[in-house]
Amino acid sequence: MKRRKKDAIISVSTVELPIGGLTELLREIVEINSVSDNLVGIRRIAERIAAELTALGFDVKLHAGEHRRQRVDRDLEGAAPLEPDDGSERGLHLVGRLDGDPGSTTVLLLGHMDTVYAQSSPFQALQVDGDLACGPGVVDMKGGLVVILGGLRALIESGAPRPSLLIVFNSDEEVSSNTSRGLIEELIASHRPDFCFCVEPGERRADGTEELVVERKGHCCLHVGIYGRAAHASKPELGISALSALARKIVRLEALASQTAGVTLNVGRWSGAPDATYNTVPRYAQAEIDVRFDDVESGRAFVEQAKAILGESATSPDNELTTRSLVEEVFFAPPMGPHPGQQRLIGALMQAATAIDYPHRFVPVKRPGRSDANIAANHGIPSIDGLGIVGSGSHVAFGESARLSSLEPRARLLALALASLARAGDSRSVGRNG
Ligand SMILES: [Zn+2]
Repeated sequence: MKRRKKDAIISVSTVELPIGGLTELLREIVEINSVSDNLVGIRRIAERIAAELTALGFDVKLHAGEHRRQRVDRDLEGAAPLEPDDGSERGLHLVGRLDGDPGSTTVLLLGHMDTVYAQSSPFQALQVDGDLACGPGVVDMKGGLVVILGGLRALIESGAPRPSLLIVFNSDEEVSSNTSRGLIEELIASHRPDFCFCVEPGERRADGTEELVVERKGHCCLHVGIYGRAAHASKPELGISALSALARKIVRLEALASQTAGVTLNVGRWSGAPDATYNTVPRYAQAEIDVRFDDVESGRAFVEQAKAILGESATSPDNELTTRSLVEEVFFAPPMGPHPGQQRLIGALMQAATAIDYPHRFVPVKRPGRSDANIAANHGIPSIDGLGIVGSGSHVAFGESARLSSLEPRARLLALALASLARAGDSRSVGRNG
């Protein structure tokens, strides 16, 4: 067994990874716009990646995703829904599967194809300057997708021990994975992966160490629609302002968050009725609220209090009119880790790093942001995130840039770690239930 492991190291280390080819693939998918609602661009990327995976022997399927949001209510006058849309959001997700050696473990590899850059953004091309490649989604996380593709090529061509592989590249991570969360959970239930790797951006610190993400905060998104009654601004006593009611609720929510340890809150977007004018009492207002928390109990308790505040109706002192609220918990993602089973993953990565003389030391970290690794972790799967290309400036137009020199070492690292996780070994029980 020891011998076989050594062989695996040699074979994975010597498989040729055409770095020029990987960089070209990165350029190609970076320059296809794939903001989360651009399903045409996402399909092009998915088909390009599907071709790569199929060539490696994967069985690949594209899944349409749909998230039905609650239909908007009618306002107090019974007017038609205020949002023109039917409230659904759509996605297109790639799922790839490949059987491993008999009796092997199963590893889930998570990535996302979408980015945050609108089709109208001037930031659409990849600019390479020496080692730095600047482009939309190059770090978050098209570089990570290429790390996976390169790693799989090295793993499969080397003939090293191989776990069964389950890949999910979704199209809506940047908008909270609303249409893919259910799919990921179904796949976890049916394939019962032992481990999960996620390729969110790799980060190198000033001291040269690189981060292995072992913990992430929990995250919740709430949406509220408030329904008042319109009136001419000169006769406000005839209506009730939905926007004023919402503003008062936001102030209360912020006060509550500031008194709750480990919880942060942000009201990122709010708006009044689409047909409102400055001289009309607004009949409708809505807001999207972001909540982050350290542990699931305090997160859940805070969210329930927030929902109660948002759901309260307000009564006008001038008349009998009362607002109504429709509160939606768009998602609630518990925190990720720590999990004792992560030790085997960390061990596999460290061992792989030694084997290939990886030039940076890893440090386990907690990141405040949520990722799809939270979903896997919440299903008891030991997960490590942050294994994508090394870079910085995620979500910043003309600021997002990756280190091309990290592509190949990270691909080999992933390949070797997968090879050493292929055998169930003693820690399988730790893996699932520890
Ligand atoms: Zn990302």
